[in-house]
Amino acid sequence: MVTGQIKPWYTSVRMPKGRVFQLDTDLDNLYAGLEDLGIGPRYAGEIRKGQWYVELGGPKHQYKSYQTMEVMRSPEDVVDGRVEIVGPELNEIPVETSLPFCLHVRAWGPELQEDLTEFVERGTFLALLFMEGWGIVGARDMIWLRVSKEVAPRMSFLKMAQAIRASTISLCPIVEKMEIKWVIATPEVGGRELIAAMMAEIKPKWEALDARTKGLSDEEVDTFYGCTICKMIAPNHACIITPGLVPYCGILSYFAAKAMYAVDPYGYVFEVPRGQTIDLVAGRYTGVDDTIWDRSDHKHKIFHLHSCIKYPTTN
Ligand code: SF4
Repeated sequence: MVTGQIKPWYTSVRMPKGRVFQLDTDLDNLYAGLEDLGIGPRYAGEIRKGQWYVELGGPKHQYKSYQTMEVMRSPEDVVDGRVEIVGPELNEIPVETSLPFCLHVRAWGPELQEDLTEFVERGTFLALLFMEGWGIVGARDMIWLRVSKEVAPRMSFLKMAQAIRASTISLCPIVEKMEIKWVIATPEVGGRELIAAMMAEIKPKWEALDARTKGLSDEEVDTFYGCTICKMIAPNHACIITPGLVPYCGILSYFAAKAMYAVDPYGYVFEVPRGQTIDLVAGRYTGVDDTIWDRSDHKHKIFHLHSCIKYPTTN
């Protein structure tokens, strides 16, 4: 158990107390204790009706659930490896229960800037995507998670928190400290109303991040970005990310893609020269057509950024 002064997570909401755990912060032990779980791209997939043990967020709760990452300014603001679970653990929830939730992660590193928030957030996203028996749809306040019946006996929210920390630190070594809070909002904890009140405090931070991208148009930049993470589940797929186009997973803005490419130029995110404009309204550019032809394994020759009917993007 962890003791000491903790920076409040929310100032306008009376947060129920949760159970607090301390993960091993030795880098050699990032994944220790997760050996009975499969982790990796081959585990990305859907958990369908009848297969899920617990469902978190999604349409049944009017998307009043969220996942967020906060980059903290001071090392004192983050207790590395601290995990708090407000509400029940997975094994305390009856089978086929659907609940609203929040997954809130705080990170700190000496070189970690707020501009890199979305990049760091991908560590959370990939842990949820690549963990055996977990299904994820959407991000932020559109997130919808499922945990399968098959994996439930070996799984816990604490293990998932460990996987998130391990994945983020592996992906983004400039993160030195990470702290995680789960809120599984049963009626006893405060239900959807608690999550909505917490989200109201977080939303201005998301809006401030989004405002940077909204001030820029596609025509004002020479370089777009692309991402091919989802090739593992859709082999001919590639996303193009521009100031005006957020990919359908919702996890990356233009600035986050730019930061991600700067930190990891040999990773999944790559530069796309915009080239000449062929059709401004449809969003057709020579550089995008050429890149998509290469990245879609020569399946797509034309790519309209702004059409879902004629030559739509590959999602
Ligand atoms: S940007 Fe596109 S390829 Fe990358 S994770 Fe999102 S949906 Fe998948």
